[in-house]
Amino acid sequence: QTERKIIENSIRDIKDFPQPGIVFKDITTLLNDKEAYGVLMNHLYHRYKEYNLDYIAGIDARGFIFGAALAQMLGIGFVPIRKKGKLPYTTISEKYSLEYGVDEIEVHIDAFSAQKDAKVLVIDDLIATGGTANAAATLVNQSGAQCVECCFIIGLSFLDGVKNLKEKTQVYSVIEV
Ligand code: IMP
Repeated sequence: QTERKIIENSIRDIKDFPQPGIVFKDITTLLNDKEAYGVLMNHLYHRYKEYNLDYIAGIDARGFIFGAALAQMLGIGFVPIRKKGKLPYTTISEKYSLEYGVDEIEVHIDAFSAQKDAKVLVIDDLIATGGTANAAATLVNQSGAQCVECCFIIGLSFLDGVKNLKEKTQVYSVIEV
């Protein structure tokens, strides 16, 4: 089996979650499968070890799992990008639109300040419309750092999220569905 097949086969589809008509990609079955989780993290490590990154920024909440593990493997720092109201210190925030309504994410204002022009990888489990990742990349760039790439475990190719995000930054999805 190829790496991608092992990863793909470990992700479960949940019909009608969180709403009727939605097929939710459940990555908990990847995380509790030591082979698949190991193959994935090893794949990410080998892709990013030559990037000379300064930080990984993970998107709330599943981006923390992959991002924090990868940051440790690469020997660099991890920065959480959180839903509004969760971070204790001064933040900068960015709104983005959902199918119905708006949401907002934040990052600490000094999160990347230890390194001038820090090179940052943004990571999340999945890209759908790209709204969340676009806001995350904006926050990184507004913090005086540079979003060099957005990385996803799963890219949903029937939506325009990847295409739109590519106008702003490089995009990489481990698997496309
Ligand atoms: P977007 O902003 O439309 O690209 O949605 C991406 C965000 O929604 C990410 O933070 C994902 O974690 C979450 N998300 C949307 N659909 C799914 C799914 O099927 N499985 C896991 N996360 C999802």
